[in-house]
Amino acid sequence: MNYSDAERAAAKLEELGYKQALDDKDADLILLVTCSVRKSAEDRVYGAINNYHKKKLYPKLKTIILSGCMANRPEVVKKADKADIFLDIKDLNKLPEFLKKESKAGYVETYFSVKPRYQSSFTAYVPIMTGCNNFCSYCIVPYVRGREESRSSEEIIAEVKDLIAQGFKEIILLGQNVNSYKPATAAAIKDFPDLLEYLAKLPGNFWLSFITSHPKDLSDKLIKVIARNKSAGGGSAFGGKICEYISLPVQSGDNEILKKMNRKYTISQYKKLVKKIRKQIPGVAISTDVIVGFPGETEKRFLNTVKLFQKVKFDMAYINQYSPREGTASAKLKDDVPKIEKKKRDKELNDVLIQTALEINKKLIGQVLDALVYQKSKGDIWLGKTRTFKVVKFKSKKNLLGKFVKVKINKAESFGLIGKSIDSSKKL
Ligand code: SF4
Repeated sequence: MNYSDAERAAAKLEELGYKQALDDKDADLILLVTCSVRKSAEDRVYGAINNYHKKKLYPKLKTIILSGCMANRPEVVKKADKADIFLDIKDLNKLPEFLKKESKAGYVETYFSVKPRYQSSFTAYVPIMTGCNNFCSYCIVPYVRGREESRSSEEIIAEVKDLIAQGFKEIILLGQNVNSYKPATAAAIKDFPDLLEYLAKLPGNFWLSFITSHPKDLSDKLIKVIARNKSAGGGSAFGGKICEYISLPVQSGDNEILKKMNRKYTISQYKKLVKKIRKQIPGVAISTDVIVGFPGETEKRFLNTVKLFQKVKFDMAYINQYSPREGTASAKLKDDVPKIEKKKRDKELNDVLIQTALEINKKLIGQVLDALVYQKSKGDIWLGKTRTFKVVKFKSKKNLLGKFVKVKINKAESFGLIGKSIDSSKKL
């Protein structure tokens, strides 16, 4: 979401006459789009702001703008007093006023309406909503991003159509909880599955995916829409537009901890949901987010998360060690799991993930998968992303950046695949 916000902020600055500096050292203005999810991320921002004040290192720098989640926290504004402007990203329209510059584009209704300066020519992030009403007890997002606000479906459709016309190959829809999407205008598109299906039916050569889904809100309707519009071959043949990938943050494998986290589902409900998704969308990849060392997470409760990992066998997991965020409900609880123990649990879960992800990936050996090439590595090695968000390495002398290729998988690793490109010109 921050990456996407930064693309809109960059566009607004360009409209005001600024040009992108190739190095921070050449910049006379720096706009930081910050994240408040973890304390370590905030600390890095304080460090960066202090550093930017070293005249010897940044001789041209006159203005530091602090935007993103940190800009909405009064305690940060106090602490980061070396920044010149604090900008709520929703106030992007006010940037000309703050910088005392004339806006050529004039007023746009919401910051969503600012046409972004996309960083890639083939992958685009399209926000469909912002904010969150869920108030998970550890999370700062509802406080810094505010309540849920859905973007108009007309505006989203217009942005996606424009991206397809420009030749973008991968469109990733963004929202703190895409399943809460509710456009204000009563039209044919009433919810997220309606929007996803509408976009999937647009003509063009592109993939659609989305992040992220709260397990309590992922509906049967959405599963059916994905199943109807996914690739015919379970992720291995060119077919439908919607990628077979679902990010489904579980956060803990223990019911008591889930209750304390205010997640509003039980582990048995989560497992049933995974089962349903896998049954209806064969070949789907499921990733998760999990927090280790939440207050009250005894060894026994943590082992429930280990068991869940062993049972569900995730394709990928983002494991976070708990750190209290001031202002959230869980910050009032005693942070009673020592740091060293959090680190140990992080490693233990990661070890399970390494094994199960390898098991899943080994089943792909011999299959021919579609991939979107996103980066050149060393020599003739290219990196592609499969429809299931797996990184695949292969060799080619051709310039394949931003192209769809077919790759035959020869080798599997826990967090990647290795294969041979067999085609680079087929269309969806
Ligand atoms: S669903 Fe929970 S974790 Fe996700 S953004 Fe909302 S409050 Fe935070």
